[in-house]
Amino acid sequence: MRVGVVGAGPAGFYTVQSLLRHAELQHRLRRIDVFESLPVPFGLVRYGVAPDHPEVKRVTNSWTQLMDRYRAIVRFYGNVHVNGRLSLDLLKKRYADGVQGAGLFLCMGAQGGDRKLGIPGETPCIESARAFVAWYNGHPDYADRVFLSQRDGCVAGGGEAVIIGNGNVALDVARMLLQAPARLHVTDCNPVAVDALAAFGAQTLHIIGRRDASNASWTARELRELMTLAPDLKFIVHEAMRWAPTPPGLQPAQPSRTQRRALEVLRRYAGSAVIDEVGTRAQVTPRTIHFWFGLSPVRALLGDDQRVHLICAPNELFYDSLGQVQCRTIQDAEPVRITASAGAVFRSIGYVVSAPWGLPLDSNQNCIRNNAGRVVGLEDAVYVAGWLKHGPRGVIANTLVDAQETVAQFVSDLRQAERATQARADGSRTHEPEVEDLLKQAGHSFVDWDGWLRIDAEEQHRGRLCGADRRKILTRSDMLRLAGGASVADYQQNSGEGLGNRSHRTPADVAF
Ligand SMILES: Cc1cc2nc3c(=O)[nH]c(=O)nc-3n(C[C@H](O)[C@H](O)[C@H](O)COP(=O)(O)OP(=O)(O)OC[C@H]3O[C@@H](n4cnc5c(N)ncnc54)[C@H](O)[C@@H]3O)c2cc1C
Repeated sequence: MRVGVVGAGPAGFYTVQSLLRHAELQHRLRRIDVFESLPVPFGLVRYGVAPDHPEVKRVTNSWTQLMDRYRAIVRFYGNVHVNGRLSLDLLKKRYADGVQGAGLFLCMGAQGGDRKLGIPGETPCIESARAFVAWYNGHPDYADRVFLSQRDGCVAGGGEAVIIGNGNVALDVARMLLQAPARLHVTDCNPVAVDALAAFGAQTLHIIGRRDASNASWTARELRELMTLAPDLKFIVHEAMRWAPTPPGLQPAQPSRTQRRALEVLRRYAGSAVIDEVGTRAQVTPRTIHFWFGLSPVRALLGDDQRVHLICAPNELFYDSLGQVQCRTIQDAEPVRITASAGAVFRSIGYVVSAPWGLPLDSNQNCIRNNAGRVVGLEDAVYVAGWLKHGPRGVIANTLVDAQETVAQFVSDLRQAERATQARADGSRTHEPEVEDLLKQAGHSFVDWDGWLRIDAEEQHRGRLCGADRRKILTRSDMLRLAGGASVADYQQNSGEGLGNRSHRTPADVAF
């Protein structure tokens, strides 16, 4: 049996794992082809999870073991961007028609960018937290972006930053801005970002949410981590909103357990005195985090002083017919003006799923419409897992449960199809050429698993030289060279291109 998996993030690997471990599929799986548009695997674990959370990133060890163990079955094709040129019909034919292949699993995450505020001045004043995260994680498409600096390229100390959003990504951004440079230096953080963050020297952070604190979507653990990060942090909570009267008979929805726990953390640490490590009052000037609730940015201006001025309107909060808290700006209220350094105002209000190949999009849930993982409205065996399946929320562990459900659905569909046709969808009757042969014939540079292991070894080696977990390779071209067996020295000599240079070689668009 042959299946295809598109995307080598958590959902892709957990799908592979669930397929390989499913009792009914053992001894039947002949080939699992995994396509990844980047030359390297692991999706947001490599390029989203914050560098100061190395314990989270260690989940990749189990996927590496999986690939080692099943290398005869699972093939990794990195630097292969599956897109419009490789139509869904072609993919379905190869992997999901029940004859040549038994199933196609789409695990591409949320590729539609990030949600925008849609306010005047958003460009150029407000940066995307998604891009900032990719930058400090050394993503090859973002490694040469500039953040935290004024127009002249200088990063001034005593930085003031704004983060718009009340989720865990917003907390990651806040923590990275405040994290001790020495702590970041030993991680896999992009060294350019470590230097810029140190030079920025965040002194004041404003975290803005449009609703009240009990409706924030962050979790207690991440909030506690931020609020206990350093002894010189001081927190001020501003509640800018007013509440509309609750209509008689309407039952307001209660905050979830997660929301209640996060609220307890906020209450516990906010307003606490600034205490140093030995318990006396700190002598240093405290770094301050302002939590603003019930406030919506309505306009952003770049002043002559090279600072961003964010004009915010207080909100009126009200319960909708389902008892959920909603908000609207109060037209006649005095606006709140918050200023920050240029390049340090971030929106972090969510990621967006895009529907490739005209797959059915559920725009309310921000995911592909599916039944337990099977894409609705298609004849063929096409499945989704991860953020593409349930929307861009939740943690890595959710993608495991999710992939297991998708694979269970796949097996159930397979059973049913085989009963109906009295034939096994094993793909063994096919004489289709191997994917690598097709890619090679077409002259596409792809990275196989051994190629990734070479990149990985080089990154770890470079990390050891400077006492860090790893130093990531920052360009696709360097990755391809290393994957192909060249040393970095060979590469620099042959191409005249140093690791600091960032040339982008676009991934192969596969059409076969
Ligand atoms: C900033 C941030 C921090 C996070 N921190 C944590 C944390 O600390 N702990 C935690 O548990 N969870 C964390 N998460 C959540 C976690 O990262 C996600 O739950 C998980 O990565 C979702 O997995 P996925 O495979 O669906 O998507 P992704 O991780 O996005 O993987 C999708 C993969 O598909 C590839 N791809 C996309 N399109 C194509 C294409 N056309 N062809 C080929 N390949 C393609 C992408 O390059 C990518 O590698 C964080 C998320 C973010 C955004």
